[in-house]
Amino acid sequence: MLGLMQDHPLMISSIIRHAARHHASAEIVSKTTEGALHRTTYAATEARARRLARVLQGLGIRPEDRVATLAWNGYRHLELYYAVSGMQAICHTLNPRLAPADLAYIINHAGDALLFADTTFAPLVQAIAPEIRKTVRAVVFLCGPDSMPDIALPEGMDLLCYETLMDAADENFAWPVFDERAAASLCYTSGTTGNPKGVLYSHRSTVLHAMAINQADVFAMRARDRVLPVVPMFHVNAWGIPYAAPMAGSTLIMPGRHLDGASLTALMNGERATISAGVPTIWMGLLMHLRASGERLPHMQRFVIGGSACPRMLFEAFQSEFGVRIDHAWGMTETSPLGTYNTLKSTNAGLEGEALLRLQEKQGRALFGVDMRIVNDAGEEQPWDGEHTGHLEVRGPWVASAYFDGQGAEAFSADGWFATGDVASIDPDGYMEITDRSKDVIKSGGEWISSIQLENIAVSHPDVAEAAIIAATHPKWDERPLLLVVAKPDREIDKADILRIYDGKVARWWVPDDVVVVDALPHTATGKLQKRALRETWRNHLLQQAG
Ligand code: ADP
Repeated sequence: MLGLMQDHPLMISSIIRHAARHHASAEIVSKTTEGALHRTTYAATEARARRLARVLQGLGIRPEDRVATLAWNGYRHLELYYAVSGMQAICHTLNPRLAPADLAYIINHAGDALLFADTTFAPLVQAIAPEIRKTVRAVVFLCGPDSMPDIALPEGMDLLCYETLMDAADENFAWPVFDERAAASLCYTSGTTGNPKGVLYSHRSTVLHAMAINQADVFAMRARDRVLPVVPMFHVNAWGIPYAAPMAGSTLIMPGRHLDGASLTALMNGERATISAGVPTIWMGLLMHLRASGERLPHMQRFVIGGSACPRMLFEAFQSEFGVRIDHAWGMTETSPLGTYNTLKSTNAGLEGEALLRLQEKQGRALFGVDMRIVNDAGEEQPWDGEHTGHLEVRGPWVASAYFDGQGAEAFSADGWFATGDVASIDPDGYMEITDRSKDVIKSGGEWISSIQLENIAVSHPDVAEAAIIAATHPKWDERPLLLVVAKPDREIDKADILRIYDGKVARWWVPDDVVVVDALPHTATGKLQKRALRETWRNHLLQQAG
């Protein structure tokens, strides 16, 4: 017998319709590329998204067509999110930090029909245009006619102005209702492990993920919150905030392209932001600025930090010096992205000081909807004792079931688990801790050493700005940890002093064999350390040292 309840497919358009109706005047504040603040509301955004859907129809966009965006966080990008998915086309967010050749590869691979770009990316668009002319019919710059970039596009590729198109369109568009499993948006992993792979989200996965990330023990955004996503809308849909915030009726504060400490402080304080989210590098920059300027963050309550392991010093600094709580989260493009989130339980609610920090360093507990397990090389499940580590696998309704064109099939098991490529432990309370990427783990004499843990300790040294641990080949132990460090401005690195910081914090045999001082460390387009490149350069360092 079926239940007798109404059957409403989970549609992304229902989010913006809800916000427009029930939080009509809640604001979206955007720092524009021109520098000024732009203010609009959910009601106006929903109307503009309908107008944009008419523009897209006029440009020949049909269900399932891919429409690419190359844009910072801002109100026009939000209109694209809702219009493109809402009309049953697929919103493909592009990461402008990728190399031009990778961008062209991704656009061609996805078969994007149109490209909407912020004017700041005009030179990049011009550079890749010849490579993408077979698929992209037109480039639409997200600006008014006065700000249109003066660039030449190949024949057959139109150069269009967003606001001119919007002015010429009407709002006579009714959001269609269709199969909730239909594709809604597309995001490529940054390709740190080979060619970029496309993850194709559905309406159903997006709506469920947005509901899940806003549970009380997760983002917990309320109608009275003022949420500033620093994480870009091209990085796994800004972790779902552009969907979850309108669901809750929270004010959205969009930072545009200036993500340095001074710009963020001004925006956070000027707009009284209460919650913000981003990767550790952003918060390092913010911390340095706050300490140097003496400014405070009087309205901010919480930062959500994920994308890479959050170093302990960020928890310490923000929580004790600035009164901003830090929530550690884990996820990946393939998991929409949120998989785990670290908040306290009744069993550990009283933790303080060192014990609390130690817990917060973990990546957190699985959200309802996500199941996880750790397995050894033979696929056998490992115990949840906080000691055993294994390959982390996850499953759930917002976890990918395959990549866009079937590549990378080995990550998806026949019994429905997705292999994340991360190595983790899980403690008896269900807190998961990432110890490594499978490919970065250091196998020393058959035992595994966590590069992440060693890096976190290294950056707590007052002279170290950034650190990377890589597996260096060793004649006796196969691999040993090698520490690469970047010094803070005006600091000298004393190798022996750096290594002393490991005393008492890790087992003796975990201490790196050597320290190499470098000017800078390479990063991927999503801000992660490019360990493959580092390994290529430094893999033989210990062998050479041994003579
Ligand atoms: P990429 O394309 O670079 O893999 P993702 O954003 O999908 O981009 O990266 C996901 C990976 O980032 C995870 O598999 C994990 O290795 C790492 N990661 C994400 N959050 C954390 C975290 N809180 N701590 C440690 N690693 C993390």
